[in-house]
Amino acid sequence: MEFLFLLLPIAALSGWLVARKQYNKSKMSNLSAFNPDYFKGLNFLLNEQSDKAIDIFIRLLEVNSETVETHLALANLFRRRGETDRAIRIHQNLIARPTLTPLQRDNVLVELGLDYMNAGVLDRAEHLFLGLLSKASPPIEAYKPLLRLYQQEKKWQQAIDMAIKFQSQSKEDINSTIAQFYCELAEKQKLSEPNSILPMLKKAHYYDANCVRASLLEADCLMKAENFRKAIKVLQNIEKQNVNYISEALQRLLSCYQNTHNLSGFDDWLHSLLNRHPTITSARIMLAQVIQMLHGSQAAHDYLYQQLQSHPSVEGLHTLMSLAQPSHQTIVPLIKGITHTMVRRGHRYSCQNCGFSGKTMHWQCPSCKRWNSVKPTEIHLSSLESLLELSQ
Ligand SMILES: [Zn+2]
Repeated sequence: MEFLFLLLPIAALSGWLVARKQYNKSKMSNLSAFNPDYFKGLNFLLNEQSDKAIDIFIRLLEVNSETVETHLALANLFRRRGETDRAIRIHQNLIARPTLTPLQRDNVLVELGLDYMNAGVLDRAEHLFLGLLSKASPPIEAYKPLLRLYQQEKKWQQAIDMAIKFQSQSKEDINSTIAQFYCELAEKQKLSEPNSILPMLKKAHYYDANCVRASLLEADCLMKAENFRKAIKVLQNIEKQNVNYISEALQRLLSCYQNTHNLSGFDDWLHSLLNRHPTITSARIMLAQVIQMLHGSQAAHDYLYQQLQSHPSVEGLHTLMSLAQPSHQTIVPLIKGITHTMVRRGHRYSCQNCGFSGKTMHWQCPSCKRWNSVKPTEIHLSSLESLLELSQ
């Protein structure tokens, strides 16, 4: 708390030094630095009357182009400490000065918008940013906070419009984020306007052809319309889009193949998938489930037993023991209990960016707010859980 106020005299001093430099240049007398207000301000500061002190110091600071940065830095510190009113006062004070260049003015306005966002006055922040961005040469810094604001408020159409504008004016590639915004919009209108969903998902794939989430949503739509064959095509294409997410498609694929009475087709496809990607445990467990449905528990057990030699996994072991007849009356139930706990305790999804992990899928990381950074981990429980229900 105290150290920040120590900066105020420094800021005042830098203003004074600049003023003195100008005085030397113009040979004009300037005694403002010895203004008795300065000592009055120091006195307030020493008596911990920080509000009065800051008022006086702000009045004292000679605002010209060279001290603007100091003011901005100071206001930034206040904002980061959560003292938003103070940051707002400094920024409003700066804007009122006629000496600012247009560029500096825009900078201060962006900062003021960030203050409003921090204070939770989102409509004021939005209004301010929109005003800045409607100018002939808008400050590029205004886009990102406005995009953050729209995401916070779940105004997805506005977020899309703004993201497209931002991308056209900056070099940054945010196509996959724009696709996520379209998916959010589609999820929001899934119930109220189901007919508007498919065009939105098309847009998502226009911006990011590998958007897995749009494919999953598209498959859900097709399944609802009982167009299972097309849904299977969309879901299988996820292998090409991003094979890390294929586990998200397996339950839906099972349901599509069941509805088309073609479980053996699913069996074939899972075998070929595992040939191409032998490490996908969730597909192996799903295949064991399909084998059990087609050929019984013993066949599923034999398949898994053989697979576990080359691809050991806790989930596989656990599934195997659920399928087997208990051959040892104490050891098998014990190991089964342990694997059960281990599998249940495991997190299904984790963020590649910040390490956040959890049991539900988030397309935007709840911790670091990044899009497309949460990925399914190898432990995939949903197929295992249904297998357990089946074998009970
Ligand atoms: Zn994260």
